[in-house]
Amino acid sequence: MPKETEEYLDKRIKSFVWEGRKKAPIDHEILFLSVEEGGKNLLSIKDRNSAIAIKLLKTFLTTGEDRATWCDLASKGLRKEVSDRPKVEINARISPFIQTWAPLQKKLPRPLKRMVKTANKFRLKFDALALTKDVKGELPLWFHTGAKKDLGRHNNSVCATCLRNKHGVRSVDDILTIIERNYHRHSRRRNCACESCKLDRLRGCESPYKCQEEAIKILDCINEKWDPRLELNQPNAELTEEELTRNSAALIEKEKVIFDPRIAIDRVEDGYRVFCDNTSTSPAHQLDPIEGEDDPSDRAVFIGSCVTVNEDGEYCSAGGIWYGPEDTSNMTVRMSKKLASKEGGVAAAMLYAIQNSPREVSLHFTLDSKRILHALTKGLQEYEDKGWLNVDDSSLLRAISAALRGRGTRCTLREAGEQDRWNMSKANEQARLGLDDGAPTVLNTDIPEAYKLDGIKLSSGSQSMFYKAIKAERHKPERMKTTIMLDITRHAARDLSGKTPTDGDIWRSIRNPDISRTTRDFMWRCMHQAYKIGPYWTNIPNFEHWGICRHCQVEETMEHILIECNAPGQETLWNLAQRLWEMKGFQWPEMTHGRILACGLVDVQNSAGKSNKGANRLFRILISETAHLIWKIRCTRVIERGSDPSRYLSEAEIHNKWLYCINTRLKTDALLTDTRKYDKRALKIRTVQDTWNGVLKNPENLPEIWVRQSGFLVGIPPLQ
Ligand SMILES: [Zn+2]
Ligand SMILES: [Zn+2]
Ligand SMILES: [Zn+2]
Ligand SMILES: [Zn+2]
Repeated sequence: MPKETEEYLDKRIKSFVWEGRKKAPIDHEILFLSVEEGGKNLLSIKDRNSAIAIKLLKTFLTTGEDRATWCDLASKGLRKEVSDRPKVEINARISPFIQTWAPLQKKLPRPLKRMVKTANKFRLKFDALALTKDVKGELPLWFHTGAKKDLGRHNNSVCATCLRNKHGVRSVDDILTIIERNYHRHSRRRNCACESCKLDRLRGCESPYKCQEEAIKILDCINEKWDPRLELNQPNAELTEEELTRNSAALIEKEKVIFDPRIAIDRVEDGYRVFCDNTSTSPAHQLDPIEGEDDPSDRAVFIGSCVTVNEDGEYCSAGGIWYGPEDTSNMTVRMSKKLASKEGGVAAAMLYAIQNSPREVSLHFTLDSKRILHALTKGLQEYEDKGWLNVDDSSLLRAISAALRGRGTRCTLREAGEQDRWNMSKANEQARLGLDDGAPTVLNTDIPEAYKLDGIKLSSGSQSMFYKAIKAERHKPERMKTTIMLDITRHAARDLSGKTPTDGDIWRSIRNPDISRTTRDFMWRCMHQAYKIGPYWTNIPNFEHWGICRHCQVEETMEHILIECNAPGQETLWNLAQRLWEMKGFQWPEMTHGRILACGLVDVQNSAGKSNKGANRLFRILISETAHLIWKIRCTRVIERGSDPSRYLSEAEIHNKWLYCINTRLKTDALLTDTRKYDKRALKIRTVQDTWNGVLKNPENLPEIWVRQSGFLVGIPPLQ
């Protein structure tokens, strides 16, 4: 799609979202954020087109028989014109995406130029933790992606030219063949009579022995990690096919799953990574286990964890490491409050246990988290391929997998079962010791250079995945105003529920489907302070008076409008809301700006300490709709009627407007239970009844399942 079209479409969307206003009230970028980040998850045409472009790159770099014809043409096109410094002979050019030369962009046809630009912009690199010997051999030799600087001097030497043009050397394998040939009765002379030299001379080489010696020097320029002559030190070998099969069964049967230290890619295309900033040249050797004197080399370890909400409403968690009674290695790992979660505790404890066990010890973990177990076994490859995008506890999980891969001993993982009850309770006990106020345990989540793998594997990515990755990289607009509102809401939510929500919890709560769509939007804008009221005008010369409430003569903030203003409206409506809430049988919490925004997070409990879902739902509806109606009444007064007191709404009008709004909401709720019409999206009858039971008019005249009837209303009469 041409750039102009992209921009046009994005502009149209922008104007639609902001109802035609030229200037968006808040940074437009916010809309593209996910709901959890305070955005609206808006599709960006530009980003989607970039994702399509990356997908095209993926198709281009896929090898194999079903490779499209255009790919061959494109390859030729890319090789046609290159920059002259350094010189890249035609026979040295294979692909700019896997070698260190670049095509001349200005000479490229448009689609190819876009491809090269996409590769640069989204940092296409070639890297893997390790490569099989076959893959190392397949890589282009000249301008090798993993070469030391010295190769630069050799790429265009006399012998290099001869090796390319007479000996036909293109790949690493080609040069390896020359080096490993039979040199029986060879001598360093131009006219050496050995079989190999004879053959080379037939091909047109004038001094075979020189080319042969140069070949070794060239291969020596390739970094150890990519050198086909070298192998990794792997005392803990890759799993056999049989072991892999057994692993799959073990995972289901809650038996020991052997951690698979396999890291080598076996296809060239699996080495392409996008969004990749760093590549590593260090080979991923494992640590040799040293035979210990007394230590047994196998140790079973039980990993426990716990999470709780403290008096301040903050989440606290800790992990527990349990080897056995009176074992001095038993340990408690305290999590920082930011990372607190039950599964985070499990991961942190595992990492600590690995890092603090002598290298000769084979660790056998038992843990109680399906997700962590999956992430380190069956799911590891996939998470890594996808760059750990949106994976919880990813920094811990990455560090664990790196640590396990680097160990020269076998480790196993197992999900806790019935027989582990006692040990697991001990491990959890060990974890609970960490719920005091002690400082968080210092965990080292640094990954050794050799085990670092950056970005997303191109061959396993999908368009939507690339889109997510592009989005994740977008600059995240930080808004002071939003941060303040989030904090106010957080404190209020703690009052209403006893728990401290994260930003993500808050954003999700105001998107709660129980709140009507327009009201959700109202709440969202309140949270971003996106309305042009009060302080917005204070700094605009000649408009300062627009920021004043004409009725009260004070600055008109949202807080003023919603709970302080003396103009007819807010007080009446909150009294009505209170009346209805007390009919439900609960005490009315004094309304504050923060509590309005936190209404979706309320947690009213019944006598047994269980959440009263119906009451919570009524509260959400009642508070959000009332607040929104107050805002609408204010806009009518100020904008439509110019703050003219003779045109204010009467108390009765205000009362009846609210009643109409709540009754409409009640009716909508009942209609939404129609499964014939809404199928799976229909509300449960029980949900609706639980919400409104207790606040209806003349309940004694209604059947038990009243939602199917007509004529029900809330138990507050209209005013004449
Ligand atoms: Zn010879
Ligand atoms: Zn030669
Ligand atoms: Zn605070
Ligand atoms: Zn006022």
